Amino acid sequence: MKSARKNQRSEDSSNRTVNVRLNAIKWNSVFGEHQRLHPNCNGFLQWNMEREEKFGFVNREEAMCDKCTYRSKKFKLYEEVQTKNPGRKAAKINVSAQAALSQTPLGYTGLRKIVLGCNMPAPSTSGLQKRAYKVLLEIVNINKKDMKARRKQLIAINTLRERKDPGSVNIGDEYTWAKEALQDLVSDGIEAKHLTTDPDSSAYRAADDLYLENTTSTEPEHFLDTRHFLNNHRKNIKNNKELGEIMPGRTKKDREKLLNNFALDLAERCQSEFTQAMEKYGGDFLKVKNKISFTVDAIPACYTANHELCHSHSFVCKGGKKF
Ligand SMILES: [Zn+2]
Ligand SMILES: [Zn+2]
Repeated sequence: MKSARKNQRSEDSSNRTVNVRLNAIKWNSVFGEHQRLHPNCNGFLQWNMEREEKFGFVNREEAMCDKCTYRSKKFKLYEEVQTKNPGRKAAKINVSAQAALSQTPLGYTGLRKIVLGCNMPAPSTSGLQKRAYKVLLEIVNINKKDMKARRKQLIAINTLRERKDPGSVNIGDEYTWAKEALQDLVSDGIEAKHLTTDPDSSAYRAADDLYLENTTSTEPEHFLDTRHFLNNHRKNIKNNKELGEIMPGRTKKDREKLLNNFALDLAERCQSEFTQAMEKYGGDFLKVKNKISFTVDAIPACYTANHELCHSHSFVCKGGKKF
């Protein structure tokens, strides 16, 4: 008992990765249940570190009360990769950490040092190796940088081969490049299962087409790089020449400034509509996609101060009132 308390105390000052939404769900459920089962208890609710289960970077946690006998069920505090396979599903963060690791010169020891330095439990080297074997075969991380590097390499090769026009290799056609890269991998016996791309990337379409053409037998799953979504969206709006021309403003500089602000505002509006919708529908992407399709009509009207559609289809505009 004493050692359990000691363990609790030292673990209390350590850190964990938790999914923000699942953590909120856990504590709301725990507080409600504790109150219901022990209405007069004013004990302190905390994680029961004795019962913690760790898988790489993620964990399952039970809550306990320091005054009464209350123990919650165990809560997963991480999101899982959706698969049809039976058994425990992989944690998204374990898969994506593995993918990120494959793109850095850092080894397992280095990674463990950083994690431990953050006072977090580090995944074991053997665990990382086991996971790498399973995961890396399934991951092809395609982003524009990779494509760019590949194009550069090819241009360099063509230059060495003294081709007349070394750069004339479909530059800019990301779809073709992704398809060729993926076909290369297939000939090495590797099929892309998870793709992380920019939202405006056509690389995923290439992977999907290969699957539909029966070149690959694994249906690819698309992870959107939402972290960069707002910025990419903003840049796309800013670079829209037609929009630049219709912006009111006397000088070109005035119009540019206005377009800049508009791009930021619209990108942020779209991002918050999406975030709020995901929140409201508990991450049910199909539902969100359906609802957002109406929001798309509400936003332009909203900019003209007509909030009729906002009323039923916007997740952030309260119709005329500032949000
Ligand atoms: Zn209690
Ligand atoms: Zn509105």
